[in-house]
Amino acid sequence: MIIDDEKLQRTLEKAKSHSDSEVTEILKKARELKGISLEEAAVLLNLTDKKLLNDLFNTAKYVKEAIYGNRIVLFAPLYISNICTNECIYCAFRRSNTHLKRHASTQDEIRQEVTALLQQGHKRILMVAGEAYPGGGLQYVYDSIKTIYDTRWNGQNIRRVNVNIAPLTEPEFEQLKKCNIGTYQLFQETYHKETYAKLHIAGAKKDYQFRLDAMDRALQAGINDVGIGPLLGLYDHKYEILATLEHSWYLDKTYGVGPHTISIPRIEPAEGSDFSQHPNDVLTDDDFKKCVAVLRLAVPYTGIILSTRESPAMRNACLELGVSQISAASRVNPGGYSYDKQNGSQFTLTDDRSLAEVIDAVVDAKHMPSFCTGCYRLGRVGKDFMDMAKPGLIKTHCLPNAMFTFAEYLEDFAPAPLKAKGYALIDSTAKDAFPQDSPIHKMIEDNLKAIKEGKRDLYF
Ligand code: SAM
Ligand code: SF4
Repeated sequence: MIIDDEKLQRTLEKAKSHSDSEVTEILKKARELKGISLEEAAVLLNLTDKKLLNDLFNTAKYVKEAIYGNRIVLFAPLYISNICTNECIYCAFRRSNTHLKRHASTQDEIRQEVTALLQQGHKRILMVAGEAYPGGGLQYVYDSIKTIYDTRWNGQNIRRVNVNIAPLTEPEFEQLKKCNIGTYQLFQETYHKETYAKLHIAGAKKDYQFRLDAMDRALQAGINDVGIGPLLGLYDHKYEILATLEHSWYLDKTYGVGPHTISIPRIEPAEGSDFSQHPNDVLTDDDFKKCVAVLRLAVPYTGIILSTRESPAMRNACLELGVSQISAASRVNPGGYSYDKQNGSQFTLTDDRSLAEVIDAVVDAKHMPSFCTGCYRLGRVGKDFMDMAKPGLIKTHCLPNAMFTFAEYLEDFAPAPLKAKGYALIDSTAKDAFPQDSPIHKMIEDNLKAIKEGKRDLYF
């Protein structure tokens, strides 16, 4: 059993009473970068004392820096279709929402969308769709991934396509793998079975277990990187974080590798959905930050993804706490980047800054923007990636690769002030992270020089 409801409820109840010294011990253990237990995570999720909360946030920052350095991966979602046969009461795409303008992008329209993203400087896409595909089967999905990879603009192309679509059968996952996807991502929405039944009232998605077992089928079908997550707001967030950890540990134990990423989307108002305006669980900003920090401590090597559902201020705060990937300049409707900027969105976006503006803020916060796709393209995925991440090597690969892809962005897309600021950050980071006489420092200098002279797509 992946999720034991009674165990989770019991653990949360027990964690309500804890001493300050117990918390200090847990935080001390977390600094060893080996994770914390379910019971310890529950204690931290229950913290309210300002000083202890601060200690928690500082520990999360320590863990994030020790493993990931200051790099932040950037990506954009690409919604190819908003047609859906399910009835998730929090989502504007649900089939009974007759007010929504429905559309599935044609392959030509997908090319237009990808071109618009390339023109901004994006290199990584998360492809998203409702559950209903033109033509009936999954061919539309496979074709769309191929179109994304094949689109070229000015010598640039998308280097990694991650996918967030409804759960598939094992043979379908095998087909999806052949499309060369990066991560297969799927949110359980809520791990609480009774709540799940109340919020998913029609369509294939009613089946809680088929969704929960999706990552087993994906991994068995050979997809190496999977991404999980709850949709915060549907049920008690403390329960959801513990359940996400249980899911994560279960995958790790069963397949020798946990999820590549955990996302923590928070519910946003969606057109025609009363529930989305008044969700079951309303998190304070501190609650949300606690969720990020506890995940960082409990599964230190798993990437944490934050979307533009969060405000710029919250996104900046979470960079410090262990988030390792953020989306930027997102649109959540088919056509949103090019041929239809208005209609058919899934929910309201909170951060509508351009990619350049997001990057500017990331640099001001002394984080290194990254468009790196090196590991995936060198086959360092699944267990190989985790084996490399665990001894801390992620820093010595991810950070230089981040610098190379950021330098490309600065050369090809950045306005002059950002270019100056960006290179200053690259220089100071290279100096701080690697001794000047080390081979890696020399390699970084050589590659940066090559990029300035026009070379592209350098990674190792
Ligand atoms: N249709 C597929 C599914 O439901 O798994 C995949 C794509 S769906 C568009 C992507 C995710 O959007 C869902 O898994 C859900 O967590 C999220 N979502 C739906 N309604 C939302 C809302 N009102 N606010 C924030 N996120 C929402
Ligand atoms: Fe459809 Fe996914 Fe929205 Fe549910 S969350 S209505 S399955 S698009």
